[in-house]
Amino acid sequence: MTDTGSVARVLERLRVQLPEAALVTDRTRLRTYECDGLLHYRVIPALVVLAGSAEHVRTTVAACADEGVPFVARGSGTGLSGGALPHADGVLIVTSQLRDIREVAPQDQRAVVDPGVINLAVSQATRPHGYYFAPDPSSQQICSIGGNVAENSGGAHCLKYGFTSNHVLSVDLVTPQGDSVTLGTRAPDAPGYDLLGTVVGSEGTLGVATSVTVRLVRSPESVQTLLAGFHSTDDAGAATSAIIGSGIVPAAIEMMDALAIEAAEAAVSCNYPDGAGAVLIVELDGAAEEVEHEFAEVERLCRESHAFEHRVAADDDERAAIWRGRKSAFAAVGRISPDYIVQDGVIPRTALPEVLREMTRLADERGIRVANVFHAGDGNLHPLVLFDESVPGQGDQAEDLSGAILDLCLAHGGSITGEHGVGSDKAKHMPKMFTAADLDTMQLVRCAFDPAGISNPGKIYPTPRLCGERPGKHQGEHPLQAAGVAEVF
Ligand SMILES: Cc1cc2nc3c(=O)[nH]c(=O)nc-3n(C[C@H](O)[C@H](O)[C@H](O)COP(=O)(O)OP(=O)(O)OC[C@H]3O[C@@H](n4cnc5c(N)ncnc54)[C@H](O)[C@@H]3O)c2cc1C
Repeated sequence: MTDTGSVARVLERLRVQLPEAALVTDRTRLRTYECDGLLHYRVIPALVVLAGSAEHVRTTVAACADEGVPFVARGSGTGLSGGALPHADGVLIVTSQLRDIREVAPQDQRAVVDPGVINLAVSQATRPHGYYFAPDPSSQQICSIGGNVAENSGGAHCLKYGFTSNHVLSVDLVTPQGDSVTLGTRAPDAPGYDLLGTVVGSEGTLGVATSVTVRLVRSPESVQTLLAGFHSTDDAGAATSAIIGSGIVPAAIEMMDALAIEAAEAAVSCNYPDGAGAVLIVELDGAAEEVEHEFAEVERLCRESHAFEHRVAADDDERAAIWRGRKSAFAAVGRISPDYIVQDGVIPRTALPEVLREMTRLADERGIRVANVFHAGDGNLHPLVLFDESVPGQGDQAEDLSGAILDLCLAHGGSITGEHGVGSDKAKHMPKMFTAADLDTMQLVRCAFDPAGISNPGKIYPTPRLCGERPGKHQGEHPLQAAGVAEVF
């Protein structure tokens, strides 16, 4: 536990080392940073640092390390698992001003970017050279590369191209002790431990990324996009399995169910097939001849799975029109429900029809609606659990259903998160997926980077709630646990 005196000492030190404009202490301005995209957890940080350079980040972390003050990195704050939730007695280090694309080297298929660079900006800068950055979260117009690295973010096109971890060559990291290190290499292989792999997806618990070298992908010669309407999610799921089973690897296969379509129509009039119980968006890219051949096969497989309508985008505008409904779906749900939880879990693709059916049953039991919009090709589900906070008890029921959906994913051999991270939100679910020894081993890595436990504490791991305890090697049952007085989860 830190005291306010420690934060005051950090502030005093930073006042000498950083420009005054980089320090936010006014309570009203601090509230701007009290949450990320997961709105129901809110904590006002003690101090916000708007880093203007990598050196500002290092100076801030070094001051925190000396005073034992927790710090949390924040990119654009679009995370959906409370990963960038501030610490009340800590410093929030905001990287959104670090937006320089420092190097574009098409011949080496790489770019070097600041952590606050917006995901889409990397592709915009590299497309004229014939390359782009493949991971494309639906939030790509606003989320940062630092946040993508920390969350190992995915997106519609990760089915073929892989997640962020497949597209990062090296990261400059300020460790929780305030050292600057480079992890990874531009060479094809790096000897020793894969520390870069450890840091990608570590949700800001191992330090703050200050520079990222990303891999670029060659823009494809040809892209074809299909929108297919089905009467049910069962049929759309069958088409997904048939396409993947045929050996074709589409760039994307995305599914939306009737409720998600209704929301998207209300928000952006996307004009999806009338009366559809589900739609699939299937995109193929690559060499023109190959795409043409495989596209005909995809159309055939959709028809065989009872698609009652399909539309092929004739040009980029029509392609954008097809994607508009899908890309706006999360936000669009606000049109049909005052409140909603965006859940994120992953299952083996073949279990899709069964899991969707079971999810509907669980939702009906509780009288709660669930809209589904997800990366069907990856089996990565995003059920949107709709509720109305003003109806007594409905928020709790939605939370309960949300947890039951994760249990369902685990029961089918899946995971409690596909791409949005564990953050503050899902730490309590980790023991359902990992044994105590599994979690202890992960904690050993964390403790090696961050022995004082100051880098984004309270995230990912189900830390003991008992005063004075630190996450670390499992020490057996606490006496208060044994007495049934307190619980560790
Ligand atoms: C509408 C919408 C759609 C979305 N769609 C997708 C999707 O399709 N796929 C997907 O994967 N996600 C999606 N997300 C989730 C979110 O956009 C991603 O997780 C994104 O990577 C977060 O980036 P950010 O810059 O906003 O990070 P933040 O929310 O600011 O932070 C996220 C985590 O990263 C850490 N962090 C941030 N910067 C750094 C840094 N420089 N060094 C170390 N740690 C850092 C934070 O501490 C925190 O733990 C969506 C979110 C929204 C709101």
